Amino acid sequence: MRVESAQRQRGEDRQVHLVIVGGGATGVELAAELRDAGNLVSGYGLTHFDARNDMVITVVEGGPRLLGPLPERVSAAARESLQRRGIAVETDCRIAQVTDTDVVTADGRRLRSDLCVWAAGISAPSWLGELGLPTNKAGQLEVDGCLRTPDPHILAMGDCAAAPRGDGEGIVPARAQAAHQQAEYLARRIGDLLQGVTPADEPFKYREHGSLVSLGTSSGVGSLMGGLRDRSLFVSGSLARLMYMSLHLMHHKVILGIGRTISVALGRLLLRRAHPRVKLH
Ligand SMILES: Cc1cc2nc3c(=O)[nH]c(=O)nc-3n(C[C@H](O)[C@H](O)[C@H](O)COP(=O)(O)OP(=O)(O)OC[C@H]3O[C@@H](n4cnc5c(N)ncnc54)[C@H](O)[C@@H]3O)c2cc1C
Repeated sequence: MRVESAQRQRGEDRQVHLVIVGGGATGVELAAELRDAGNLVSGYGLTHFDARNDMVITVVEGGPRLLGPLPERVSAAARESLQRRGIAVETDCRIAQVTDTDVVTADGRRLRSDLCVWAAGISAPSWLGELGLPTNKAGQLEVDGCLRTPDPHILAMGDCAAAPRGDGEGIVPARAQAAHQQAEYLARRIGDLLQGVTPADEPFKYREHGSLVSLGTSSGVGSLMGGLRDRSLFVSGSLARLMYMSLHLMHHKVILGIGRTISVALGRLLLRRAHPRVKLH
């Protein structure tokens, strides 16, 4: 493993360079997790490996700030937190090429990279484009306010659909809370159709509940939306991390019910006391 061989080297040769392309929630969370994992590694016998100096992590973001869709205050707090952990952040920086040893920026700079993780977004599966229905640049099916494609037999929801938000502000984001809300909306409409009732033409309206981003094992940052438009509550630190974990368990509850969710949570808590946090192959 690269970290293991790195600890036998000296000077710059010892450094392991990780480049994460994409400063959205995935890239930011991964950077913080990798930093924590690096710190743990030293405790498993790699005593010459000093994660802060020897594990060089860089997050590269094409836009002007991390976590672009979230409020600026959340972006700034995330950036500050990553930099405090010794993670380099490059914004307004687009990657043009990835090689075995470097990533090359659009302006020709080479960043050394032993491992490059692409976290700069995804597009819809290509077969959606073969249905003969209108799609957008990301390959999502374009639907109307009631999540209908031009084909009356095909409805679309979740990540594969480009649906108007219902507040005139672009399309619904590809997020779990959006997919959840659309599923409830469509379940009602399909229920009506199955009973032979024409569903009301009331369009889907996305309700933003906020976002939480985990920053390693003990911190987080995010914003929670209040009842009023444009009002959000900024949360950070261990409170945000606690809320992140509760949200995760609430997702479990929807699928498993309360009893089994409590079992999962207790089981994890007990296993954490016995299992290592990182696995060295
Ligand atoms: C790394 C990562 C982290 C994320 N973190 C968050 C987060 O913290 N908060 C948040 O709100 N959102 C998050 N998201 C986004 C969130 O996961 C999605 O928005 C949400 O899962 C969308 O739900 P969906 O049902 O539309 O699609 P999916 O959850 O992707 O479900 C689609 C399902 O369809 C199946 N499928 C695909 N093609 C076919 C086929 N041809 N035939 C049959 N089945 C098929 C897939 O296997 C999959 O099970 C994250 C996404 C990623 C990738």
